[in-house]
This record gives sequence, C-alpha cells and structure tokens, in this order.
Amino acid sequence: MAKPKTTPMMTQYNEIKAQYPDAFLFYRLGDFYELFNEDAVVGSQILELTLTQRNKNSAKPIPMAGVPHHAAQNYIDILVDKGYKVAVVEQMENPADAEGMVKREVVQLVTPGTRMKTSADAAKENNYLVGLAIANIDDYGLAYTDLSTGEIKVTDLQSVNGVLNEISRLETKEVVTADELPSDLQASLTNLGILVSKIDQQTDEHAEIAFLIQNLTKAAHKTAADTLLKYLFETQKRSLDHLQQATAYEVAQYLKMDRHSRANLELTVNLRTQQRSGTLLWLLDETKTAMGGRALKQWLEQPLLDADLLTQRYDKIGELIKDFFGRAALQEALQSVYDLERLVGRVAYGTANGRDLLQLRNSLRQVPEILAILGDLDPAIFGQLHAKIDPVADIETLISDAITDEPPISVTDGGVIRAGYDEQLDSYRDIMTNGKTWLAELEAHEREETGINSLKIGFNKVFGYYIEVTKANISKLDPERYTRKQTLVNAERFITPELKEREQLILEAESKSSELEYQLFAKVRGIIKENIQRIQGLAAHLAQLDVLQSLATVAEKYHFVRPTLTDEQTIAIKEGRHPVVEKVLGHQSYVANDVDMQPSDTILLITGPNMSGKSTYMRQLALIVIMAQIGSFVPAEEATLPVFDQIFTRIGAADDLISGNSTFMVEMAEANTALQNATKHSLILFDELGRGTATYDGMALAQAIIEYVHQHTQAKTLFSTHYHELTALADELTALRNVHVGANEENGELIFSHKVLPGPADQSYGINVAKLAGLPESLIDRAAKILANLEAQDVSLKTAPMQAMQLADTVTTMATSDTPATETPIEQPQTTESEAGAQLSLFDLPDPIDPATKQVVEELKNTNVAGMTPLEALMKLNEWQQTIQ
Ligand code: ADP
Repeated sequence: MAKPKTTPMMTQYNEIKAQYPDAFLFYRLGDFYELFNEDAVVGSQILELTLTQRNKNSAKPIPMAGVPHHAAQNYIDILVDKGYKVAVVEQMENPADAEGMVKREVVQLVTPGTRMKTSADAAKENNYLVGLAIANIDDYGLAYTDLSTGEIKVTDLQSVNGVLNEISRLETKEVVTADELPSDLQASLTNLGILVSKIDQQTDEHAEIAFLIQNLTKAAHKTAADTLLKYLFETQKRSLDHLQQATAYEVAQYLKMDRHSRANLELTVNLRTQQRSGTLLWLLDETKTAMGGRALKQWLEQPLLDADLLTQRYDKIGELIKDFFGRAALQEALQSVYDLERLVGRVAYGTANGRDLLQLRNSLRQVPEILAILGDLDPAIFGQLHAKIDPVADIETLISDAITDEPPISVTDGGVIRAGYDEQLDSYRDIMTNGKTWLAELEAHEREETGINSLKIGFNKVFGYYIEVTKANISKLDPERYTRKQTLVNAERFITPELKEREQLILEAESKSSELEYQLFAKVRGIIKENIQRIQGLAAHLAQLDVLQSLATVAEKYHFVRPTLTDEQTIAIKEGRHPVVEKVLGHQSYVANDVDMQPSDTILLITGPNMSGKSTYMRQLALIVIMAQIGSFVPAEEATLPVFDQIFTRIGAADDLISGNSTFMVEMAEANTALQNATKHSLILFDELGRGTATYDGMALAQAIIEYVHQHTQAKTLFSTHYHELTALADELTALRNVHVGANEENGELIFSHKVLPGPADQSYGINVAKLAGLPESLIDRAAKILANLEAQDVSLKTAPMQAMQLADTVTTMATSDTPATETPIEQPQTTESEAGAQLSLFDLPDPIDPATKQVVEELKNTNVAGMTPLEALMKLNEWQQTIQ
C-alpha cells in the first residue's frame, strides 16, 4: 500500500516531535499554536478544545487542535499543572521572508519543575526541581534549584527513605535523573505524583556548569548538580545567568523530621484542607516580601542544631521587639520591596521590561532607609548584618537616570528611556516634537494663505501627512502647489513638497528613536545582569531581616517568650500553649500547661479521656521545640529546652495513602523508624500507639515499646494512651512518669479542664464521651452495665502475659532489624489456648441473656473502638440499638 504523502510542514512537525516524544508540542502556525495527532486527541480533552482534522479529504486525515497564541500561557499552565511537559515551537523567521518552509524550533520546554508561576499566591512558594544521581549503593546525590530564584543546593543521602523525606520536604513536582532508579523509589515517586524525567548523561558539557559546581567536592554532589543543570540548560534554551553557585549541605546539620512528622505536625500544610491556613507557617508569617515568605518557609523546614546561631536569632528578635518604631519603619520599607530574586531572574532571561526595572529601582530605594534603621539598633546585635548589606546604589542610580517613571509594557515601542539620558535620543525626540509644532504652524499658515478656516493637517498610515480641504473649498487652492492624494465623500486630501520633506524627517526620527531606545534599554539591562550576584546577596539579607521582623511581630502579638537553650536534657516549660489552637480558640479559652522533664525523666505517660487534650499537649511540645530551633520565641511564660537532633511522631490516624498501608502497619513502621533512629537527644511523640489493633495486641505492643525506649533509646518521649493498665509501669520504670489530663464528672456530665496534672487518670470516661456525643440514654446505661461487669472481671495486662511477650518480641525484632519496617511482614502471633481461654472468660457474662444482646456483645467485643471515626461509632451504636430493641 502506498504511504500517504506527508506534506513538508508535517515532515518538519514530525522531525521536531521525534525529539520531544514525552511532551505536548505547541507548534506555532501564524496566530495559533497547533497540536497534532495524539497530542491533539489527548490535549483537546484536557484543554476542552475542538478537535478538527488537517487534510480532511486525504486518506489519512491528521487530528488537530489549536489555541490562539495570546492565550497559550493558560493552556500551557493547565497541562504543566497536571504533570505534563510542553515544548513550545516558534517560527524562527518571518513567513514573508522565508524561502520554502518557515524555519521552526523549540524555544523552551516547560516542565512541572521548571515552570515559573507568576500568580500572587505563588509568590511565597518555591518550585523546586530535583536532580538525583546514584553515586553508589545507598549513596544518592540530590541537587535542587528553584529556577525563578536561581539558588542551587546539594546534599547526599544514604537510603531511599532519606531521599523520599528530602523530596517531600521540597514538595517537588519533578525529579530528573540519568540513572535507573531503584524500583521502590520509582514507585513511591509515581505514587506521589512526581514526574521523573530522564536525561542522557552523554549530553554536551557546558562551561557554565563547571563554573556553577566548582565548590562541590563529593562525587555524589557533583553528579547530581551536573544532572540537574544539564537538564536546565537543555530545556530552557536561554540565558541562566542568575543561577547561583551550588552549595552543599548535610541533612544532619538540621533538626531531622521525616515526612510523616512534618505532615502530622502541620508545619506548612493543613492535613485536612491541604492549604496553608491553620498551619504553624500561617501563624508565623507576618513577612512583608515574597522573599521573606519563602525564607520563613525554608527556616521552618530546616530548623537548626547550632545553639550559637539560634541565640543570635533570639538576640535579633529581642532587639526588634524592643524597638517598636524601628520595626514599624522596617516593615514599611520592606512592604515596598519587590521580589528581587525573581526580578533578577527575568533580567537574566532578558525578559525584564521597563516596569520590572522600575520595581527593582523602587526596591533599591528602600535600602538606605533600612540601613538607617539597622544603624539605630544595638550594633552588638545588628552590626554585622548592617555591614554586610550592599545597597547596590549604582544600579539604583542607573535605573533612575535611564528609565521613565511610567514605562510601557513593551520595550520596543519607545517611551522607556528618560529624557536627558542619551543625546542622540534627545535629538530624535526634538525632531519629533518640533515636527509636531511645525505641523501646527503650517496648518495655521495654510489657513491664512488659502482663507479656508476648516483646512486641517492629518496623518494616516497609507498616505502619511496630508492637508484636508472640504469639497466646497477646493476651488480656493492653487493646483500647482497641491497634489491630490485621496478623495473622500465631502473632502479631498492633498500633499505639498514641503509637507513631504518634513514628513520624511519626522518618520525617520520616530523609527530611529524607538530602535535606539530599545538598544539603550538592553544596555541598561545588560549592566544589571552583570550585577545580579550583588542583588541576590542583598535579596538574601532582606529576606532574613523580613523573617526576623515577622517572628518579632508574632512574638509580640501572641506573647511568646525567648527560650533558654540548655546542654542538659531538661525540658522546663511554664504555661506552654499550642500556638495554632490558641489562635483559633482565643487566648482566654486556651488552657496553658507545663512540661517538666528532668534529665532523669525519659517518658511521660499521658492518660485522660478522649477529647481531653492529650494530643494537643504533645503537639504543643513539638511545635515549641521546632519554633525554638528556627530561632523563634515560643508560646509559653518560660521555656528551657535542650537542642533536639530529631523529632519522631506518631500522631493522629492519618493513613499513609501513598503506600497503601493500613493504619496499623503505618503505626508500626513509624514506631520502628523512631526506635531505630532516635538518640538520647531526640523527641518522640506517640499518640495512642497500638490503637490500630485489638486491645491486647495494642496494649502489649505499647508496653514493649515503652520498655524499649526506656532501656535502649532514652529519647524524651511523650506517650499518650487509653490503656489504663499501662500507668502501673511507673512502679517498675524509674524514668517513666504518669501525667493525666483532667476531667470531672458533674451530674453525669463530663467536664474537660484540659489541665495536665501529675499522676494517672482515675478512669477512662469512654462512656461519658459517648454520652457527650448524644447517644441514646438506654444505650449508655447498657454500656455502663457491661463496663461494670468487665471491671468485675479485672481486665488487666497481666491476664495475657503470653501474648504480651510474643508481641514484645515482634517489636524488638522490628526495631533491631536492618530492613525498613514497611518491608517486614509483621507476623501475627499464634493464638495459644491459654489466651483464647482468657479472652473467652473475659466476655463470658454471668447473666443469661437473649441471643440478640449476645450478638451485640459479641460484636462489641470485636470492635476496635479507637480505630473508628465518631460517625462510624454512631452508626454502629444505632445498629446495635436496633438489634436489641
Ligand atoms: P485527645 O488527644 O485527648 O483526644 P485533643 O488533643 O485532640 O484530645 O483535644 C481535643 C480538643 O480539645 C481540641 O480540638 C481542642 O479544641 C480542645 N483542647 C485541647 N487542649 C486544649 C487546651 N489546652 N485548652 C483548650 N482547649 C483544648
């Protein structure tokens, strides 16, 4: 069969497409970008475009869909947001000048990790692209950059899990690698919706890359940065002069938290809404600049371990709190500072226009004021920063001299360069303005000469300048001097040699002046480009100042206190608060609580009814620790803390949807991570660990874990539980102390005090909570009776020693095994006769009861109450009620 003939255009299209098989090709055709073939079919669905056909009548029509070129950005954004790549193909010559096919090229490859969002809500967010290299077995190099700001950071990690933690900290959308990734890593990245882009390691070397990575020493660092940068140069196809020298960091330089802990503590993302609102970042963010906003987020994601650096931050915040007026002036100045990092990015790309330069100038104009404010603060505290700030005043002067106060968006139509900046330009402009005066004078002169008062001089694109006279007056003109050019209904248009000569001068001046203006503008932009590093340095200092003023403002607003760091393993917090819950509830309604742990205290076992505030108390401690370690003041009356190296949490029932594991599996995996990695200097928060499984299992595991921490890990641990029986452990474990969250029963009603008190809670109040939830009274009564019966049987951990021991073994094996828990199947302990017997006798109620009730009791026995949502519980209770009525 004869192959359908391919047109030259489609041949060109196919050639380009073959180089970008994994991208949507936006092929410029006049005023449209066209998509063809598969791209058109899929793209038309996603973008809701009309799918048409090219060569409709041929044997093989080609599917086609198009978007108008001026609206292309929107469509590109939609595709990239969905994780696709878009290759933009432009016409490289004017179709009118082209011989044969118009030359076309890919001018940019837009990908999820390299796109630059310009929307206001993206201002305080970074978009990181990650480069990953496998240097060796269990040695990964990881480099990242935000293309809009040009920072490049590099580190190395020793496990897949470490890589995943870092990648999720960065909230990256795209990872680029030249290596074959291990299948578990590849699968996790896919599950997280992260695009993995492959590059060919053999691609050309760039001199720029060698320069950018010259400070890196480790092989893993270099390869990762090299991969990242190669991809950037390949996809961006434009100047990247704003990229900064890559700098290396170690994960161990910062307070370590895995991705679950970050998520659980809602540092930057609200678990429920996936938004910023309701997070610690949301509370702390009073920054005035986009750079400050991004820097604050970075601080929060990488709390420090260095007490000296932290103390310096405390000092600065303290000083800013003291000087209210200085801080107000600083805020005002910062308010007028634009996003310098992204502005210089546009300067580097050559896309900055007159308005961008004006924003840069206005920002630079704030710096002398900022320096003056800093100069008035304590030099022992702010002297160094003050000395380091370069106001880049020469660039401010340059832009002030060169750029008009209201430049247009376009840089080619003139009106950008200020009068007096360039003599040649001024002379062109003279001709243009003088020309206009000359024309006005000519008009007056002609009117007088001819005696025609309605005579006027006008301009149109086809005929240029002309003299217009109404038909009635034509006879008054001297036909020798006036040459007719155009006839209208009521008037005629003429030219004179004098007019034509002047026209020539004016038009020439106009075109030359716009051309010259563009050249001058490009030159100014070029000078700024040479100074990008200085401006980036300034931006970093201003961002830091902005974060400090933000933390000072928040500290004052919410009455935070300066923490004291200690070398001892002592936690002494007076009247601590959970800052976000406090903000939501209001200062008056929040019950402040102390945390008091001496070096000899390892574990606080927290009991108390559901909803009393156990988990809030634990989160509160974690947030106070994190705040202290980013250099912030903390929500308490007094706080003395050690510097923690890691925080581990198992809080809340959020399933790990990514891995598809059950709650219990995740619980155990997280417990395992904590037990394996925690040191004496770590903080562990376990909230109701073990509730994901049956009572005995859970209780036994909880006890075994507590014992393990007590003996081996010795990390400061807060462990909340609803297993009362565990409070007895305080008798044996000297470093464990019981505390409970207070609640009182008044007239059968449960009143929460939210106050954390010494000693164990005296009862569990589960039934009271059910009552609080509004369950039917008959049901509550029945539950109370069942409870009384159960209590009469003395349910205690001691009744199932075999099971406890077996489970303790399981946990210890997990904790000491080298393989991550997610890969270790937990063996269910075999049921032994003795424990089966124990369970039976437990629910063997003395009263002979009807089968329906028996069924309910049987079900109740098998129900994992702690693993239910309130709604599920309600529905279950309703069902039981139906059964026994
Ligand atoms: P638990 O973990 O004991 O089930 P939570 O910590 O989830 O309880 O707290 C339940 C609710 O009680 C919270 O949503 C909050 O509104 C309130 N709460 C908790 N602690 C306090 C407190 N210290 N002061 C005031 N209200 C609190």
